[in-house]
Amino acid sequence: MRYDCIIIGAGVAGLTAGIRCAKEGLHTAIISSGMSALHFSSGSIDLLGYRDNAVVYKPFEAIDQLTGTIAQHPYTKCGKPLIIEALLFFKQECEQQGLFLFDNGNLNHFHVTTLGTLKPTYFSQRSVFNEDVYSRFKAMKKIVIINFEGYRDFHPQLAAAQLSKHSLFANCEIVAKQIEMPQLQDDGKYPHEFRSIDIARIFEKEANIEKIADLIRLAAKDADFVVMPAVMGITNFNQIHNKLQSRTRLLVYEVPTLPPSILGMRIDNALKSRFAELGGVYIAGDKVVRADITDDVVNAIYTNSHPENPMEAQCYILSTGSFFSGGLVSEFDNMYEPIFKLKLHHEPERNKWYNQNFFHRDSHAFLQYGVLTDESLRPYDSNNNIIQNLYCSGAIMAHYNPIKEGCGSGVAISTGYKAAGQIINLLKRMS
Ligand SMILES: Cc1cc2nc3c(=O)[nH]c(=O)nc-3n(C[C@H](O)[C@H](O)[C@H](O)COP(=O)(O)OP(=O)(O)OC[C@H]3O[C@@H](n4cnc5c(N)ncnc54)[C@H](O)[C@@H]3O)c2cc1C
Repeated sequence: MRYDCIIIGAGVAGLTAGIRCAKEGLHTAIISSGMSALHFSSGSIDLLGYRDNAVVYKPFEAIDQLTGTIAQHPYTKCGKPLIIEALLFFKQECEQQGLFLFDNGNLNHFHVTTLGTLKPTYFSQRSVFNEDVYSRFKAMKKIVIINFEGYRDFHPQLAAAQLSKHSLFANCEIVAKQIEMPQLQDDGKYPHEFRSIDIARIFEKEANIEKIADLIRLAAKDADFVVMPAVMGITNFNQIHNKLQSRTRLLVYEVPTLPPSILGMRIDNALKSRFAELGGVYIAGDKVVRADITDDVVNAIYTNSHPENPMEAQCYILSTGSFFSGGLVSEFDNMYEPIFKLKLHHEPERNKWYNQNFFHRDSHAFLQYGVLTDESLRPYDSNNNIIQNLYCSGAIMAHYNPIKEGCGSGVAISTGYKAAGQIINLLKRMS
């Protein structure tokens, strides 16, 4: 089967690119070996949260400064107008699947983390942040942070203690509560083994919602806000959220949890469903292992499951992520990109890859390592030649630090969108 475009990797970058290509009518396939960073993420989309070790409130102004000073940064290669277009595209495509994202216009907002700190981000699901938080938080007198008995990956006392230290909540009582859910006992599972996904499945059963809502109401009846771990269902989360709020008559918010991230899974589901709805072909659980390249043009790629059957396309997008997802591989004294053996930006000496102090404000150098590309996001091979029909997007790219800059998904969305646009324009010119 020959495609117009094959995308390797189904994280935020690959799926954004896939949706854009499929929407333009390109015959598009995505091949992905496994889960993406979304399943481990907060589920909020960070655009640019920090610059020069300071919090960024106005991300687009900060992007203007950044693109004016760091020539190699993926945001510079995209440019601000395209970044804005890409974010709007992402938001609208998620909405098509009933996943509604809140943004604060030109400003970042701050979502509560599982540890009770506040983190700058750009898009959050509406059960995590929305207009009501802004309009009511100054008058807030009491927040109740709830956990469900048996769920080990959220610690409301810790979150409450941390949040209480923040000056924004100086006049607010913050209380931790645990509630028992009799339904947990029915599953025949030891009630101290629950993960976010187990609780989310309990929320998905319609018959349970009213009972859970009544328990929440009992625990938090005089609160202005109720905060709970993000377990309000994987598919029916809008209805569950609405029902919980209307029955408790309280404002109920979700906080990201330790993995598996239900918030991230909702985005993953929405993007994959949208891609399928647009006619995209999704090949799950197969790993691309090598490529056939002649005269700087990729002819075909080969996977683990079909080592002798070429998969061919006019253009390819490499969105395999960073070290975490296997897009980059590090050995004791070496690192490489495993499929195309692309040229990397990295320090050869291992002791320069990381900082001795794990929490150092400069973070770790390896987070900036990755594939080098030209302005069009095409990578260089080991001989410094540009591969003509291959484009890169997301965490595999060099010259940005998703942790230190708080820009992981923003870069993934912008570069995925741009890579798709490059291919769409190229194929239009050729037809
Ligand atoms: C644990 C963690 C948490 C994060 N949390 C956040 C957050 O809360 N907010 C935020 O904005 N950013 C976060 N980030 C930053 C993150 O890098 C980006 O947000 C973004 O999700 C990266 O997307 P990606 O598509 O580039 O790569 P990934 O999400 O890493 O996806 C890569 C995909 O490629 C596939 N793949 C790899 N190799 C192959 C192969 N050979 N063949 C086929 N498929 C392959 C993988 O299975 C995976 O599906 C987090 C990163 C990590 C690692």
